Amino acid sequence: MNLRVPGPTPCPPEVLAAGARPMINHRGRDFAEMIQEITSLLKEFFKTKNDVLILTASGTGAMEASIVNTLSPGDKVLAVTIGAFGDRFAAIAEAFGARVTRLQSEWGHAADPQAIDQALAQDPEIKAVMVTHNETSTGITNDLAAISAVVHRHNKLLLVDAISSLGSIDLPVDEWGCDVVMTASQKGWMTPPGLAMVSVSPRAWEAQKTAKMPRFYWDFSQAKRFGDINATPWTPAVSVIAAMREGLRLMKKEGQENIFARQARVATLAREGVKSLGLSLLADERWASNTVTAVKMPEGIDSKRFLEIVRDEHNVELAEGQGALAGKIFRIGHLGYVNEDDIREALQAIRATLISLGHAPEKTPASGRPA
Ligand SMILES: *Cc1c(COP(=O)(O)O)cnc(C)c1O
Repeated sequence: MNLRVPGPTPCPPEVLAAGARPMINHRGRDFAEMIQEITSLLKEFFKTKNDVLILTASGTGAMEASIVNTLSPGDKVLAVTIGAFGDRFAAIAEAFGARVTRLQSEWGHAADPQAIDQALAQDPEIKAVMVTHNETSTGITNDLAAISAVVHRHNKLLLVDAISSLGSIDLPVDEWGCDVVMTASQKGWMTPPGLAMVSVSPRAWEAQKTAKMPRFYWDFSQAKRFGDINATPWTPAVSVIAAMREGLRLMKKEGQENIFARQARVATLAREGVKSLGLSLLADERWASNTVTAVKMPEGIDSKRFLEIVRDEHNVELAEGQGALAGKIFRIGHLGYVNEDDIREALQAIRATLISLGHAPEKTPASGRPA
């Protein structure tokens, strides 16, 4: 199966093999060596000197952790949301008693740094800004450099959901002064689901000292206390940690700049390919993501049926639309262990399915292969 959803993503055989090894003692020396190597590689990919903590969780766990470790009930936060995952970030903060102001953009558009500037100027009591770097539901990458500059001018904490960008799209954490940045193993890291990785700045640690939201499993100070001795406070997903070490080694070998370039190539191929089939992108192309492409469902084609045929007859699994976009779009995941051939195959599957449903594409896809 050509798994083209934006997480979980396919894994190289070395990664899967590492994940299938016998259990080891998570309080033993081999495990500590693994954590040490992973943490140091992650710091390279995050481009940070901040602490990087490894949590056994999906990405959402790390989103919750970033909130409960920096905020108190009643704190005002600005939630910059451009899609389903931005909405989730806001909803978590609300669930823990933050007073959330939502700054929304039309789905398919990026956040406007000037609007963030205005919102922060209007309400000086806002303590933190939450933002999604790469909105997976719409296929948009926000201009985080510009956003972080605004947030720092107002001297607020910046919490960044980089779950589907880090590792695949450049995010220099220290240069952009991002206080808490989270990602998850099953997105750009060529690793199965089960781990979340979070960087925590000195400013975030300051906030952590007085933050009153309830926390136990997610307590960053526990994770750091154990992280400092290359351990984890609770029993971790040992197999996923072993797998991720292999993933990170492969990524290190390929090199960050080469990964970013490959991600840009496959994304361009995906976008040009769907356009050449006569389909339209959801995203304003200035901000189109290099890890996921959202495509409008053509009029008159049932999205469930379309995705079923693509999967059952062509062995390509695409993602459906989320929330308000359910039934209106489909998404092509292209992050992590992916190359041009995977995208060409997906485009061929999309093309053949459209034809079988009576929707004739205008041209052959970008691969140029005849039908
Ligand atoms: C996948 C994703 C999440 C949620 O991660 P889970 O691992 O499913 O909990 C949050 N934000 C973004 C941007 C994502 O892509």
